[in-house]
Amino acid sequence: MSLQAFVARRVVTPDGIRPAAILVDGERIQAVVSTDQILDRYKIHDFGEAAILPGLVDSHVHINDPGRAEWEGFETATRAAAAGGYTFLVDMPLNCLPATTSVTALHAKREAAQGRCRVDWAAWGGVVHDNQGDIEPLADAGVRGFKCFLVNPGIDGFTMVTEHQLRAALPHVARTGLPLLVHAELPGAIDRATETLLGADWSRYSTYLQSRPDDAELDAIRLMLSLCREYRFHLHIVHLSSSHALPELCAARAEGLPLTVETCPHYLHLSGETIPDRATLSKCAPPIRSHGNREKLWQGLRDGTIDMVVTDHSPCPPAMKQLDEGNFRTAWGGIASLSVALPLVWTEASKRGYTLLDLTHWMAEGPARLAGCDMHKGRIAPGYDADFVVFDADREFVLTEDKLHYRHPVSPYLGETLCGVIRATYLRGNPVFTEGEFPGEPAGREYAPNAKH
Ligand SMILES: [Zn+2]
Repeated sequence: MSLQAFVARRVVTPDGIRPAAILVDGERIQAVVSTDQILDRYKIHDFGEAAILPGLVDSHVHINDPGRAEWEGFETATRAAAAGGYTFLVDMPLNCLPATTSVTALHAKREAAQGRCRVDWAAWGGVVHDNQGDIEPLADAGVRGFKCFLVNPGIDGFTMVTEHQLRAALPHVARTGLPLLVHAELPGAIDRATETLLGADWSRYSTYLQSRPDDAELDAIRLMLSLCREYRFHLHIVHLSSSHALPELCAARAEGLPLTVETCPHYLHLSGETIPDRATLSKCAPPIRSHGNREKLWQGLRDGTIDMVVTDHSPCPPAMKQLDEGNFRTAWGGIASLSVALPLVWTEASKRGYTLLDLTHWMAEGPARLAGCDMHKGRIAPGYDADFVVFDADREFVLTEDKLHYRHPVSPYLGETLCGVIRATYLRGNPVFTEGEFPGEPAGREYAPNAKH
């Protein structure tokens, strides 16, 4: 077994940030000790003034593989993840073909991932209009939980669910004990708003924003909270955008409902007022709202109403963004950010007085708990996987295309000066990204410890 010691002035452990040595035996962390306690037989990696954070966990990624690998794919998504400090991804069930709504489809995904992943991964299963009978078999086969849409997801092969269909699915979901991740927008408010915009100019961001009002999110969240109260399943709200929902989410948590909430880097960094017209790179659903809304989302993180920050990395071929036309109505909605999420969030968080410890709660521990891998991932502590990101938190850089390692290097953030450079990422003790390179063969594994294959 190889013995290694990872040393830095700022090691981010669950108890705080301090100078330390992380002792690693093979793939696991043995101990976190002071730097004078390293024995001779350890190979020392000294990162000096840099910070060492736990490998980040992203529970919201659209890998699109198998079936739409020209949009992204396991090789490129996991490479981008390694470059971004992530060591574990959970793949959304809708963009691949077949969609992950049955055990057969899960097996197809496993085959597509075989030997092609640079970081560890797992799968969410889908809940669609007619697959209630697949929910418990998918849980037995190793998915980490389920995803559903209350509004049309806009992709062939994956359907939304009505309240009626959801009621048929929820007893099965509750029996699995796994979380149900919900895209919380209801069509009613969106349809009503869109009707008033028939002659509107869809090259304007404000038109798109008006078409997806806060009420669409609020109505959906109210419905889900009442169903959660009734069926007692773990409800997880994905990509919260509207701060209007925060008081009710906070009250639901106080009531003791099994509820978690995520938001995404784009909602914490961008604001609707500054998105130029025709800039469809910033189109996503729910939409990026006002500056004031963004600040309330930060407040939601501060008071714990929002548990985590995950990317919703949702790439597509550049042509689908219709950059020439700039039509917010027809362009694909989704923002890819796996390689850049950590500096993006850190740039905003450090300005607001947050620490790297807060960051690891939002971007490692929280998502690991959601994905049920929090016994192995998301912390620098004895017994955990030796997954680390070495982060020069004080160094600035300008984002250029060569730093985006996903398939199509498009991004609304190009040209921005961001704070925090990812120097290296280690997966179970081995480097998977170091100074711009990806050493070794893809060694990422699926995390499905309880799967009855
Ligand atoms: Zn998504």
